[in-house]
Amino acid sequence: MVQQPHQRRIKYQAELDSDFGRQIAAMPGGEKVYSCIQCGACSGICPMSIYMDYSPRRIIAMIRAGMKNDALRSQTVWLCASCYACSVICPRQIKITDLMYALKQRAIQEGAYPKRFPIPVLAREFFQTVQRDGRTSEGRLIARVYLRTNPWRLLKQASLGYRLLRHGRMSMRRESIRSREELQTLLRSVG
Ligand code: SF4
Ligand code: SF4
Repeated sequence: MVQQPHQRRIKYQAELDSDFGRQIAAMPGGEKVYSCIQCGACSGICPMSIYMDYSPRRIIAMIRAGMKNDALRSQTVWLCASCYACSVICPRQIKITDLMYALKQRAIQEGAYPKRFPIPVLAREFFQTVQRDGRTSEGRLIARVYLRTNPWRLLKQASLGYRLLRHGRMSMRRESIRSREELQTLLRSVG
């Protein structure tokens, strides 16, 4: 597990959100968060835990302790590969993968994700584009993600992007479905 300096900072009661655990428990996937026995089996089997700043077991402990900011701003939820190994091994049948999705959803809603970390920016941009146009073009999407996270990287990738465009492997054209209003109505109806 990668140790981050902020992990060693002392936490004060005033920094905690005592309602956070209850809010996550009310979301799909979070229902059983309070039945975790902190056995660590999920962290042991997780193939991504060596890259995470907090292990899955620790994320659950943080949710229950009300450490909302640390949980939502962690890289862990964005590094989860949705392999479901943790959900299968958990002795309390906790849906940890779905719990990670619940945290992603909250992080996007609150704009509280790790700064300049490309995965949440990609998820947000992808969702906004599909919500607006019903489709997404990979060229425009990649350009937007780079501009919002690391514009220098965009310059470095310019020649590769040019070659892909030239050979028709990527497009910068804005694509959209014909009935965008119907899509908006549909999305509004599901909240
Ligand atoms: S495997 Fe299940 S019970 Fe054990 S720490 Fe992970 S979530 Fe908690
Ligand atoms: S679903 Fe996510 S948290 Fe669970 S084992 Fe796979 S990568 Fe790790």
